[in-house]
Amino acid sequence: MSIYITDECINCGACEPECPNNAIYDGGIEWAYADGTGVSGKFNLVDGLEVDAEEMNAPIEEDFYFIVPDKCTECQGFHEEPQCAAVCPVDCCIPMAEQLKSMEDELAQETIQNNPSDTEIQFLQTKIQKFKEDKNLIESEERLLKKKEILHL
Ligand code: SF4
Ligand code: SF4
Repeated sequence: MSIYITDECINCGACEPECPNNAIYDGGIEWAYADGTGVSGKFNLVDGLEVDAEEMNAPIEEDFYFIVPDKCTECQGFHEEPQCAAVCPVDCCIPMAEQLKSMEDELAQETIQNNPSDTEIQFLQTKIQKFKEDKNLIESEERLLKKKEILHL
């Protein structure tokens, strides 16, 4: 699994130097697997997908710090707890699965409690779908689950 930075990020930069995997980038910055890591050339991610370590990839967020899901191990093997979350002054570094779940819970609650219109339901569904699609650029939900399984998270 990986940690996700929400849009509550205040761009303080405190988390970036703490990451043992160099998985954190300032908004709008291109990134590569090779940045700050020992990997080079073509290699396979834990789920078997082949990637080019030196290839520059588009920023995941433009306006605030972001974490590359495939580079984040939740600090396993380095620290007891995710270091980005430990230093973040506004607690906006949360597990990606938690973020997805809270969005899905919001939709479920709205549906049960507030008798929302079809348009409101559609708005929430679109929001969830967009989140998934954005993350699918790097790591699909299935790949997240596979990675979780492989890393025993
Ligand atoms: S949890 Fe650890 S590895 Fe993942 S982004 Fe935060 S500091 Fe980096
Ligand atoms: S420590 Fe938190 S607020 Fe600061 S840049 Fe990182 S995620 Fe954003």
